Amino acid sequence: MDSFEKIASLAKRRGFIYPGSEIYGGLAGTWDYGPLGTELKRNLKNEFWRSMVQFRDDVVGIDAAIVMNPKVWEASGHLESFSDPLVECKKCHHRFRADQLEKSVCPDCSGELTAPKQFNLMVETYLGVVEGEKLKTYLRGEITQGVHVNFKNVLSSTRVKLPFGIAQIGKAFRNEITPGGFTFRSREFEQMELQFYVHPVRNKTWNMSAYQSPIDRISNGINPKEIDSMDWFEYWKEERLKWYYSLGMKKENLHFKEHAKDELAHYARAAFDIEYRVDGAWKEMEGIHHRGDWDVKRHQEFSKEDMTYFDEETKERYLPYIIETSGGVDRATLFFLIDAYEEEKLEGGDERTVLKLHPKLAPRKAAVFPLLANKPDLVKLAKTIHDDLKKEFVVTWDDRGNIGKRYRAQDEAGTPFCITVDFNSLEKNDVTVRDRDSMKQDRVSIKELKSYLVEKLK
Ligand code: ATP
Repeated sequence: MDSFEKIASLAKRRGFIYPGSEIYGGLAGTWDYGPLGTELKRNLKNEFWRSMVQFRDDVVGIDAAIVMNPKVWEASGHLESFSDPLVECKKCHHRFRADQLEKSVCPDCSGELTAPKQFNLMVETYLGVVEGEKLKTYLRGEITQGVHVNFKNVLSSTRVKLPFGIAQIGKAFRNEITPGGFTFRSREFEQMELQFYVHPVRNKTWNMSAYQSPIDRISNGINPKEIDSMDWFEYWKEERLKWYYSLGMKKENLHFKEHAKDELAHYARAAFDIEYRVDGAWKEMEGIHHRGDWDVKRHQEFSKEDMTYFDEETKERYLPYIIETSGGVDRATLFFLIDAYEEEKLEGGDERTVLKLHPKLAPRKAAVFPLLANKPDLVKLAKTIHDDLKKEFVVTWDDRGNIGKRYRAQDEAGTPFCITVDFNSLEKNDVTVRDRDSMKQDRVSIKELKSYLVEKLK
């Protein structure tokens, strides 16, 4: 089994992720998150939001509509060039993305392939109630444009000044030719993005050796107008990589891949992907793009609204440059699961599967067990502890099967701590706390349990 299959199986078994509409045979490229997956994905999005919006003074957040005026997609270039090259096998009629094939014959039956034709990925939809007058529009193919069309609204309704960013998290839809790799390539997925607007400074001789953190420079009194947009590009590359490290992703499984000039999207001046290594192959997880002034310029052209920024101090007016960081919530969730997954051989010949998720991401921080479910005193004390912890942490309750089985279930759920109430607890007011990763057990007084967990979950 490869990593995608192992995770898909654990995800289904434990309630992280299920195939979409499964009882009707499923729907290709759609997935439903179960109880554990929903918590995990929510924790991931919260961490993104805290680090990218709430901890910063130069970023604000918005939440734009999924369905937009179709002119948005004309302006953004999506109707014209948001496409992948499609080929079809003349024999079995299976369809593939030409740029992902290793050979020029059908990978399923070795049949001859048609010449590639461009296939647009936008998902069409219709709004309105009167037949013939319905408005044809699209489910957004990326969340980016919802931010750019609100650039002026944010400027006039808040006190932001350039350089500043707007972050957003939300669903996007793409009619992918070949969905697959579990949730890796889906037709409905979520993105987490930052669009960072900077002064349009671009020095032709800029190179990496000139790089200094723009944040440090600004705090040293340098005027942001003197800071090259490529410095911001480098800064955001590093920030995003550090974010994945900070949530425990293994460094050796992450790297940057630079897009060659002929691979750049129609708008991009420079682009790097953060890639994650799965079974020896590097896969895109997030893109960092220098978009120039493409988006604001095109929206100005198509909407006839002035999209320029006015600098009160210097009385200058210009279109800003945009540095974008665009990550996939579902891809990151999948890669955090793969990164955390371990099969361990234990003493005595036993084996266990464990998800060593960072505590901040773990769906539940602790599980509380009464040693025996049929002893009312144990159950009562365990319930009191559970109800008390619940006020501060996401905790779960389990009283089924023996303790060993409960540990295995919590290991597969990625729960960092298991708390057991036993007969000694009734006399000594303490409990056993078992650590998911080391499997070591501590005896902790009930009074100190909260502070013990706070310290350990840091
Ligand atoms: P790919 O080359 O894999 O199709 P992309 O370069 O088109 O991806 P972007 O348009 O840059 O991707 O989107 C930003 C991020 O959104 C990607 O890095 C990825 O994490 C996520 N993403 C894009 N398409 C999908 C998809 N079909 N399913 C899940 N996540 C996706």
